[in-house]
Amino acid sequence: MLTPEIILQEAKALSDYMTEIRRDIHAHPELGRRETRTQALILRELEAMGIECQPCADTGVLGIIRGGKPGKTIGLRADIDALPVQEETGLPFASQNAGVMHACGHDLHAASLLGAAKLLNAHKDELAGNVKLFFQPDEEDQGGAQRMVDEGCLENPQVDAVFCGHNSTGTRAGEYGLKYGDCYAASNGFIVTVKGKGCHGAYPASGIDPIVVASQIVSAVQTLSSRRVYATDSVVVTVGSFHSGTAGNIIPAEAVLRGTIRSFGPEMRKKMCDMFRELVEGVARSMGAEADVTIIESYPGVVNHDGFSALVEQSMVKLVGRDKVEIQRIPNMGTEDFGAFMKNLTIPGCYCEFGFGDGRVECIHPAHGCYYRANEEGLSYAAALFAQVTADFLGQ
Ligand SMILES: [Zn+2]
Ligand SMILES: [Zn+2]
Repeated sequence: MLTPEIILQEAKALSDYMTEIRRDIHAHPELGRRETRTQALILRELEAMGIECQPCADTGVLGIIRGGKPGKTIGLRADIDALPVQEETGLPFASQNAGVMHACGHDLHAASLLGAAKLLNAHKDELAGNVKLFFQPDEEDQGGAQRMVDEGCLENPQVDAVFCGHNSTGTRAGEYGLKYGDCYAASNGFIVTVKGKGCHGAYPASGIDPIVVASQIVSAVQTLSSRRVYATDSVVVTVGSFHSGTAGNIIPAEAVLRGTIRSFGPEMRKKMCDMFRELVEGVARSMGAEADVTIIESYPGVVNHDGFSALVEQSMVKLVGRDKVEIQRIPNMGTEDFGAFMKNLTIPGCYCEFGFGDGRVECIHPAHGCYYRANEEGLSYAAALFAQVTADFLGQ
């Protein structure tokens, strides 16, 4: 029987194993779509455990543990890619690859999921259902989650819920964070090309000034968040780049705006993109210009499922107690591709936070920075939560 006490005890006993794996991956970080060494390491470890596994999405790994009794299937995800950062931590196991670093701690995710796999595999006869292991490549760049889904990782057997966590050094090891509902924003990039008519700067009436039109567009799109959605809906429209013109006395023919639209959930995502397009085209038309709008679909973000998140919260409380579980209030306008595993919210999912801090300055350098380091005691708690959520969701 997999009780919280047994899970925590066994996860702690796996601490040395996970630390060794984590340091190995940390010393040999690989960028998205190039995780060949990391992939080989994961395949080797899973094979040594006797777990069925295969490459997926080129440089990822899909594993499956079949429980001793029939039941549901849960998907557990760890991303495995590193970032283009030169490590400056001075740690003995610091990156040996110049200009590449596990600065987002995905080495911690991979190691803790391997630990959880070992733990769960040893108890597979007690589990009612299956555990799928998603070692996902390329979270930081183009998105390996969707590619794993496209290759069928959610089918045969069909996955009923998906779970993952991200390391946080703002939370101490032995603690967890959880946010109900809106968690990570969906992201859409845009390119707007405003087509006017070039002319001499002294005679604007003989042309159509795309800089003036584009300026109105920059202001107008801000009304999408302030006037067109409820104040309680979290959305952002940012124009991050505005390019036009060559000289002070020439009205150019074109202006190009680039930016990003952030929102939560498939419905609001579509609504924001539709309103954006309509508004931009309408403003341009009303001023005698034309706007070409290209919207580039990026990550779907994450909206946590209420019922499944409640189960995860209970799992957390069983392991570490109520006072070590923080229910978070503010969604992250950053993005994540874990949502791809939730297939437009048709599969319940939960994305949480694993504590990897120690409360001291060494561990509170921000992720994506060259000094990022984590408290490895968090590995056992991350692995324990993967296992506890699995035991609670599948039943025994
Ligand atoms: Zn990151
Ligand atoms: Zn990350």
